[in-house]
Amino acid sequence: MTTSRDARGRHGTVRRIPLLGDPPPRTPTDPVATFDDALRRLVEDMFASMYAAEGVGLAANQIGVSLSVFVYDCPDANEQRHVGTLINPRITASGGELDDDFEGCLSVPRLHYENPRPSYAEAEGVDEAGSPVKLAGTGQFARCLQHETDHLQGVLFLDRLRGRTKRRAMRDVLAADWAQ
Ligand code: ZN
Repeated sequence: MTTSRDARGRHGTVRRIPLLGDPPPRTPTDPVATFDDALRRLVEDMFASMYAAEGVGLAANQIGVSLSVFVYDCPDANEQRHVGTLINPRITASGGELDDDFEGCLSVPRLHYENPRPSYAEAEGVDEAGSPVKLAGTGQFARCLQHETDHLQGVLFLDRLRGRTKRRAMRDVLAADWAQ
């Protein structure tokens, strides 16, 4: 699942993903203003780290870098694969039916909860060269766009859970071996 898809990140360094509580990335990131080699190295490291962790998306603040960057390699509702980088993203539209599929996070390992989100989302930002990018996603890719944009605002998917699911998640987090 990981080796065939890692055209990106081949030259990157795998960085450690601090887990929730160690410390969690809860503050909004800074917008990227300089599109240089350091940014491209960061993006390569993020791809390498995402693939090493077998994730479908990774935000820069998950590896301790407070910049508004995320990478993704994620299928949509038609199993079409989307691979790329979105910098300074914002969700510009969302809608469709609520999709209450399970959602997880590399910063909160092994815990997955049903998390209703719009099944369609559009995001805008720029690429590594600073050129405008507009993305539209369905299915898991719509979820990914929302999840990663949330990260860059300091919001975890756990914050989006409600009611009984939220209470169960909080109990699981306190009991998780990685949270001690
Ligand atoms: Zn996450």
